[in-house]
Amino acid sequence: MNQNWRGAVVRRLLLLLAGCGLLGLLSGQYAWCLAIGLGLYLAWHLKQLLRLHQWLRERQPDDAPPEGYGLWGEVFDNIYHLQRRDQRVRGRLQAVIDRVQESTAALRDGVIMLDSDGNLEWWNRAAETLLGLKTPQDSGQSITNLVRHPRFKEYFEQGNYQDALDLPSPVNDHLRLQLQITQYGNQEHLMLVRDVTRLYQLEQMRKDFVANVSHELRTPLTVIAGYLETLLDNVEEVNPRWLRALQQMQQQGARMQNLLNDLLLLAKLEATDYPSDNHPVAVDLLLLSIKNDAQALSGARHHRISLEADAHVRLKGSEAELRSAFSNLIFNAVKYTPDEGEIRIRWWGDDNGAYFSVADSGIGIEPKHLPRLTERFYRVDSSRASNTGGTGIGLAIVKHVLLRHRARLDISSSLGKGSTFTCHFPAQQVIRRG
Ligand code: ADP
Repeated sequence: MNQNWRGAVVRRLLLLLAGCGLLGLLSGQYAWCLAIGLGLYLAWHLKQLLRLHQWLRERQPDDAPPEGYGLWGEVFDNIYHLQRRDQRVRGRLQAVIDRVQESTAALRDGVIMLDSDGNLEWWNRAAETLLGLKTPQDSGQSITNLVRHPRFKEYFEQGNYQDALDLPSPVNDHLRLQLQITQYGNQEHLMLVRDVTRLYQLEQMRKDFVANVSHELRTPLTVIAGYLETLLDNVEEVNPRWLRALQQMQQQGARMQNLLNDLLLLAKLEATDYPSDNHPVAVDLLLLSIKNDAQALSGARHHRISLEADAHVRLKGSEAELRSAFSNLIFNAVKYTPDEGEIRIRWWGDDNGAYFSVADSGIGIEPKHLPRLTERFYRVDSSRASNTGGTGIGLAIVKHVLLRHRARLDISSSLGKGSTFTCHFPAQQVIRRG
């Protein structure tokens, strides 16, 4: 209330008192006139208060406040202005919400909002066509009941949504979807669903091409390698000028054969989801046999290779795949560690799962290469790779084998001092024997 209003109220009160005083003077009943005057004044205020109270209780959202006089008129007017302002703000906010909903509804990507328990709250039309959600029946249903792929359930429940998940669409096998979840607010989820069928087909074509070429090259290469071997077996009949060339051809032929075998293995690993066999693998025995192979590979280079493995910890998975991953890491340690260097192989378990690690005292890797190391054909230094006869896809194979066993690869390295490659297998892949 500003000064003017305060003055007006005081003036009215004084006027009332003066009126009562005048009536008192005429009638000689001062006290009664004053009491009746103030009583009427109070009754009027009470009436206005009751009108306000009634309006507040019974009003519809857009009802204007009652008309009033004097101070009460001012109060009602102010309430009316506040109400109008509130309506305008609400209208603006509603328009924003409508626009956002309209634009997300028109998106070609599916957008789904889930509550903290994973129950559906809102979704757009694209989500209906891509995932087969039905409006309004599916509202409040759990997303894992509607998208029933086992990998989705696992992805949703593990709570780490850094990477997107690729799945076939539940309504159409020919569609390939990419699902990405983001958590926001109070543990609610926003799920984006993209149709990546074309990308997937291109990727599939690339994989098929590599697999077919590798397969087709194998036979001619075997024939060439066979003849080279025969020629070198009869060294005395060969012109000595050709001997070195033949030896190099045999060496490079063997390298090509290794490359093709690796490419075929990688293609096979990429073709299926999780390993078909999920047998318990005695990792300690597996590592012992790989360690012996590594010792043989080291030969005259006399690396000191040690193995500590917990025989009670076993791993669910494919022994052949694990052998190829572990041997790739251990043979790399031999290849990239100078003569008489130290290589330490360990296998152990704890509450979070099981760990395989290979630590070497080798040449190490610069930090800038680490993120790209598991890409196929990525090499830190191509001249170095050709010296060691590496194919550049060893670590890509390791990465795929680990992915198929739900495991993760951590690499730590310091240049000139050595590297440690650690594979972390989650508890669900581990079996403990008492
Ligand atoms: P390659 O067949 O060439 O060894 P990989 O995929 O197995 O291919 O490894 C990729 C690159 O990572 C290698 O070329 C090498 O430079 C580097 N690398 C792998 N393991 C080690 C290691 N233990 N120490 C140093 N560098 C390594």
